[in-house]
Amino acid sequence: MHHPSAEPRPSIYYPYQVFKPWLPQGHADPVRHRVAIAGSGPAGMVTALELARHGVPSVVLTSELQFSQGSRAICFTRRSMEILQQVGVDHRITDVGLPWRFGNSHYRGQRVFRMEAPHDPDDRFFPIINLQQQYLEQYLFEACRAQPLIDFRWGNKVERVHNHRDHAEVVVDTPQGEYILHAHWLVAADGGRSGIRSQFNLQMEGASYEGFFVIADIRVDLPLPTERLAYFDPEWNPGNTVLMHREPHGIWRVDYQLPPGESPEEALRPDVLQSRINAQLAMIGYPGIQWELDWSSVYSARTLTLPDFIHQRVIFTGDAAHLLPIFGVRGANTAFQDAQSLGWHLAHVVRGLAGPQLLRNHSAERVGAAREIIAEAGKSVRFMTPPAGGFQLLRNAVLSLSLTQEFVRPLYHWRTSRPHEYTHSALNCRHDDNATYTNGPSHGAPPQNVKLGEDDYLLDHLGGGFDLLYFTRGSAVPEDLLHVVAQARGQGIALRITAIGACAPVAGADQTLPDAQGRCRLRYGIQADGAAYLLRPDQHICARWHQLDAARLLDALTTALPR
Ligand SMILES: Cc1cc2nc3c(=O)[nH]c(=O)nc-3n(C[C@H](O)[C@H](O)[C@H](O)COP(=O)(O)OP(=O)(O)OC[C@H]3O[C@@H](n4cnc5c(N)ncnc54)[C@H](O)[C@@H]3O)c2cc1C
Repeated sequence: MHHPSAEPRPSIYYPYQVFKPWLPQGHADPVRHRVAIAGSGPAGMVTALELARHGVPSVVLTSELQFSQGSRAICFTRRSMEILQQVGVDHRITDVGLPWRFGNSHYRGQRVFRMEAPHDPDDRFFPIINLQQQYLEQYLFEACRAQPLIDFRWGNKVERVHNHRDHAEVVVDTPQGEYILHAHWLVAADGGRSGIRSQFNLQMEGASYEGFFVIADIRVDLPLPTERLAYFDPEWNPGNTVLMHREPHGIWRVDYQLPPGESPEEALRPDVLQSRINAQLAMIGYPGIQWELDWSSVYSARTLTLPDFIHQRVIFTGDAAHLLPIFGVRGANTAFQDAQSLGWHLAHVVRGLAGPQLLRNHSAERVGAAREIIAEAGKSVRFMTPPAGGFQLLRNAVLSLSLTQEFVRPLYHWRTSRPHEYTHSALNCRHDDNATYTNGPSHGAPPQNVKLGEDDYLLDHLGGGFDLLYFTRGSAVPEDLLHVVAQARGQGIALRITAIGACAPVAGADQTLPDAQGRCRLRYGIQADGAAYLLRPDQHICARWHQLDAARLLDALTTALPR
């Protein structure tokens, strides 16, 4: 019998709500569900919302009765915000989140590097916005609750999974005992300690790094802007690194490395925590300032991924599929991209619009993304927590030279999470004009946003299926193109035509964006009327043409949805 805690988690700024468990009332679940999702973290909930957007119902099974403990992921990237815009929670985050774009690296009391994250006037969202993960989970849950295609079951713990050829049999434990649930597909979004991954005895590839970091969230009134602060080799913590971030609701995160050999238990002792936080606050100019602890935890850096996310009828996603270091804000931000990708790939397979090779494509693309992140993140980890020998020597050289030498300072650059480009995806059209474009997002890239007017951006108008951006100043979309679009829609494929460039509504287009200043044409490298881009349901580019015709569109759609 599973009895999750009904005691609200402690927090000085977030009022935890305890939800009622979903109880089986003594019945087996007779239905074979299309998709069941184990876990209601960022990966599980965004997958459920994406599936619903594509018309696929799901059951979310989650073991706890409340949102996760502590702030956890606090920095969300622009691409994450664009994904969260698609599932309708972006405005909740921008209402309270703290946007920022500068980072400062300090050494020996001197600021040795100031990073500026690029911010294009065509972007709706800042490079990064800070918000505690409990709020994000709350907003995602409220979106799930408002969605009739999502059956959300608090207090339902996935105990065991039997993987069959055509379905997964899931043993679910609740406060009323166990029941069996059958689903065509089970999404394992049960987090970094995934019990499903352990039950299947799956090995992850990659590395775990030595050394521990403490995260402490404190309420303190520091009159500092929202910028990332990094302190290398501070006097109170020699040889180690300290990071600080401002969070909403008067909270600051202090994140510091432990001296070698110190245990997590020792590090979290109240007197030890207190003296280190006091030392850090004194070092930045606030000795004796009053503060209050909200939450503390210890973590270590790991760069691990499953080499394949699909195991018969079980699909791993988010932290259950890979473990990424939080330097460079890679955990939750990667989980959103995984979930957005999984949502549309799985929905099209479940709805019979593509064959199982589409799911293999999802796994290949997202394993590729994880491996790219691991390679990038490994560099950050080796700089932040250098292993002995050459890495230590290099870091010490960079630190000491940076006091006087400008040229080494960019080595501090903080490589943040960025969206993976599916440059070599099997879904990219092989006979289009991608190679001869000189500007604009290319094969596999996420789309370029464009400001169209006050509070009006290109990406606000896209999403929910395939998008055909058709550039024309004419009055109508050619009949032969409309015929292909009608055929695709007849098969159940969501495909929308957005005509860009004409002042009056273009006949046959679902919407017309005037592009009076020609910004869309410029950003997409358009040379003539009749050019077009095809965006997949996750908005990544899969084809682009200088001149589109019906045969070319049909070819691209057939490649993007293999049967
Ligand atoms: C201490 C800490 C600090 C972090 N800081 C950062 C940060 O600063 N930046 C960043 O980007 N990331 C950070 N992360 C990582 C980030 O929180 C995760 O990457 C993110 O939450 C991953 O989302 P997920 O949905 O894959 O997994 P999780 O958020 O872990 O969600 C897993 C879900 O599965 C549920 N579950 C588990 N087992 C079962 C089961 N058997 N049956 C049913 N449900 C189950 C859990 O209750 C939970 O709802 C941090 C993580 C931790 C632990």
